[in-house]
Amino acid sequence: MCQQIAEGTRWTRCGHFQRHLVVAIVDCNTMRCRESSCARNFGPEIQKDIDAVDEYCFACRAAQAKAEGRPLR
Ligand SMILES: [Zn+2]
Ligand SMILES: [Zn+2]
Repeated sequence: MCQQIAEGTRWTRCGHFQRHLVVAIVDCNTMRCRESSCARNFGPEIQKDIDAVDEYCFACRAAQAKAEGRPLR
C-alpha cells in the first residue's frame, strides 16, 4: 500500500496530529499497486511532527467544552 507523508502539529496532551500538508507519497512499488488502484487507497499515514504544542487539539477542546456544557472560548 502506498503511504502519504504528512507534516503537521502534534498536540501532545491528547496525542492527536493536525495535518498541515501532504509532502510526499511513498510508492509501495509492488505489481499489485500498479495494476490496481492502490494509489487511491493509502495505507497508514506517515506523520512528521514539525511542531509540538503542549495542549489539546481543537477537536478535543470543543468536545470537552460540549461535554461540560460551556461555550468554547
Ligand atoms: Zn501502492
Ligand atoms: Zn485531540
